[in-house]
Formats: sequence, C-alpha cells, structure tokens
Amino acid sequence: MVETISKQEELYERRKKFVPSALGIFTPNSASHAKGASIWNVDGREMIDFAGGIGVINAGHCPEPVVRAIQEQAAKLIHSCFNVAIYEEYLDLAEKLVELFPHDENTKVMLTNSGAESVENAIKIARQATGRSAIICYTGGFHGRTMMSMSLTSKVAYKAGCGPFVPEVYRIPFPYYNATLQKISEDVFVEQELQALHQYFNSVVAANDVAAIIIEPVQGEGGFYVAPKKYLQGLRQICDEKGIMLILDEVQTGFGRTGKWAAYEHYDIVPDISTWAKSMGSGMPIGCVIAKGSVFDKVAPSTIGGTYPGNPVCVAASLATLNYMEDININALGRKVGKIVKQRFDAMKIRFPEHISEVRGLGAMLAIELSHEGDIQRPNPTLTKKIVNYAAENGLIVLSAGMNGNVIRTLSPLVIEEEALHRGLDIIEEAIAIFG
Ligand code: PLP
Repeated sequence: MVETISKQEELYERRKKFVPSALGIFTPNSASHAKGASIWNVDGREMIDFAGGIGVINAGHCPEPVVRAIQEQAAKLIHSCFNVAIYEEYLDLAEKLVELFPHDENTKVMLTNSGAESVENAIKIARQATGRSAIICYTGGFHGRTMMSMSLTSKVAYKAGCGPFVPEVYRIPFPYYNATLQKISEDVFVEQELQALHQYFNSVVAANDVAAIIIEPVQGEGGFYVAPKKYLQGLRQICDEKGIMLILDEVQTGFGRTGKWAAYEHYDIVPDISTWAKSMGSGMPIGCVIAKGSVFDKVAPSTIGGTYPGNPVCVAASLATLNYMEDININALGRKVGKIVKQRFDAMKIRFPEHISEVRGLGAMLAIELSHEGDIQRPNPTLTKKIVNYAAENGLIVLSAGMNGNVIRTLSPLVIEEEALHRGLDIIEEAIAIFG
C-alpha cells in the first residue's frame, strides 16, 4: 500500500529542508486561510484559534473593514518613508493613539514595525530623556528578540549562546503574589518588594544612574503573572521621586485583551513611555512608542526612525482595526471572554487539583499552571506539551508559556463565539483527563 502524507506533513518536511530548525515550532499546525476565531489548515481542517498568532488577533482574523482598508491603501500608496514624504494616514493614527492613550497633555507617538522595535526605541528615548544609562527589568519578563530587547528578556533558553548582552541591564524579581507561597498579605508583600527596590538602589545600582524601569503589567511569555495594583502604583511613585522613566510594555496586554484598551488602566497610573504592537494591526507588522511630550522633546533629531515604520498599508490596517474595535466594543468582548474562560479554568482546577496548581490572569489574558501533585513548585511541562499536541490533533491551536513551559494560556480572538470558546476549553479539559 502506498502511504500518503497530508499536505501539512509535506509542508513540515519542506520546512525541515529550507528553514532553520532554530525557528521554534510552538504548535504543530499550518494555516491556509482564517476568519473570526478559526484557522483552516492546509488540509482544509478548521481549527479553533486560542493563540491569535501570539496575541495579535484580538479583533478576529481578517475583519472585513481591515481587509478593505489594506486593499484600498495598497492601491493608493504602499511606501514613501515617513522621513522622506509625510502622509496623512500616519498622522491620523498617531492622533487616534493619543486620544486612546494620553500620557500627558502633549502626548506624542512614534510608529514602529514590531514590539521589539518599540522596546528598542523606548530605551533609546528614556536614555536621552534622562541622560542616564541603566535599565531595570524583571525576572520572567519578555520584551523581544533583538539585542536590546533580548537583553531585557529573562528566559535563558531564548538567549543561549547569543551574548554578550547589552550592558547596564539590571533584573529584579517580578512581584508575583501567591498567598499560599508567601503566607503574608498582598499589601505586606508589595511593601516588601518596594522596600527591596530601595535597597537595590543602595546595593546594586544608584537610582540616579537609572534611566528606566520596564515592566509588563501582566507578564505574557513569562506565564500571565499579574502585577499587584499597589506595586505598580508604588513603582510610579518611586519613578517620580527618582526621575526614572516608567516604561509599561503593553505589547501583549493592549487593545482589549485585559478588558480595557490598556492594562495600565486597571492600575490608575499613567506611564512616561509605553510600547505597543501585536493586535493594533490585526496581523500587519506595526507597533508604536507612546510617550509624554516632555519626554519625546528631549530626543535628538534622527536618533530614532527607520525606512518602514508606520508603513501606509500597515497604518491603514491599524486605523481600521482601532475603529472596528470601537464599533464592536472590544473591551466588553474581552471581559465577556475572560469571564467564561475564568469560570471554566476554575472548574478545571477543582476537577484536577493534582494537575492544576493555579488559575491566573486579567480579563481575557488567562492561564492555568500545570504542576505535579498540584504543587506549584513542581512544574509539569510534559503534561503541558501533551495538552498542546492533543489540542493540535483535535481542532484547537493553543500555546504554552512560562519560564518552565508549564503554563497553558488563552489568547483567542475576542470575537470568538461562545460555542467555539467552550469547544476549545472542552478540548483542553479532555486532554488533562486523558494525560493527567
Ligand atoms: N513585549 C512583549 C510584552 C511581548 O509579548 C512581545 C512578543 O511576544 C514583544 C515585546 C516583542 O514583540 P515582537 O514579537 O512584535 O517583536
């Protein structure tokens, strides 16, 4: 009998031949076309998408107004380089972003091509604005794969052999609060963490050498850890006192994912500088740095920029995405999806206490942590991998996360139908029942 292989298998064979294996395979899937919360693989199989291409598809796959805007803009102007010939669409998008994310009364925006590029520029801006060089970042933090952003990234497996890394990067523990582990109240914990930062300024790096502290309000790749509200408020106060720029990295948390436009809105604080990308372009490569006018005004001409940032087609996609998000009330959808996933994850934790050690997240940015015997200190990446692979075989694309690869996270399009959402969650639950 002649053995036939699927088109997807054939693609993976070709991938092996022509593409370096160092480009990781997070889930063994393929994509031919997509709509809403579904991707059809190259063999015509419909897959429910809980990955959104790593948090990029909050507004759903190929929303019609976005597709139309891309087509119309591509027929009109694909490229001029904003530094060479300015165009109105860039300004429309900058104005819209300022309206959504005011940092002060003179907020300004610089467009970029990606999250990593936003982070790179945020650091250049913070250093120029303060005349200082040191940057403080966090364990578990992920900020991208370029040299600066990788230096700020925590996970060792993402950096192996790539050093030397950028100097003047200092890392402190992310303020992850877990009542069972710490056995103190959250307020006391936060007080201790902020005190530890003051001590850090005495023992490791002087506050007046620090240009910026960069933090994800909810860590993405790190495993969906939510910074306590009082911690970020305390950090804001410390940054103000010490003249340090507070950079919030909203690349994964932004645009409705946590049930608000910005995760920082949950914290009643405003950053000096913020970084964005992913869902702002529905998949087109676009990001931005937003900063207080007083900060951007200290940046010297020609020290930031590039050939493609704010490309007209990407800008058109982003503008159409933001308008569409407003029309469908993306934040309400984020809260709705989050509520359903949280209920289901909480129920799974009750059903499988020996496998799920924690349910955590904010809005629709939710995750379960898989551990041996329910002990959070004994991560179970093997079970996690089995869940991801079982999902791929049974119609669901889902991603893991975390320093130990033992977290299952949901980043589904927020336009997902309830029925599909439940079907996807059923597949995760089935996998735990089978492999747990
Ligand atoms: N910052 C955060 C918080 C991220 O989650 C990511 C990507 O996952 C990045 C930065 C880097 O973004 P990009 O992959 O677009 O360079």
